[in-house]
Amino acid sequence: MIPILTITSTVMCPHGGIALLTTTNTQALIDGAPALVLTDVHPVVGCAFAPGGVYIPCVLIRWFIGATQTKIQNVPALLRRLRVAAGATR
Ligand SMILES: [Zn+2]
Repeated sequence: MIPILTITSTVMCPHGGIALLTTTNTQALIDGAPALVLTDVHPVVGCAFAPGGVYIPCVLIRWFIGATQTKIQNVPALLRRLRVAAGATR
């Protein structure tokens, strides 16, 4: 299986929220689905982050690190093993 994330992949924030995956990439398809790229920003739904009982859910996931070898229109692609590199913005 190709390890590049696409809009059909599942990406979660560290607290179990689900990222709604969209991409600006329309060129590179993997198994028919557009691949995600480093510059994509994904809304998060269902985050349960509530430190000390204060509900502060993640609302966006941004990517800090992309693939070093695979680029789409000069933007690094996102790999499955980089999933933990997703950061949540509140
Ligand atoms: Zn979260």
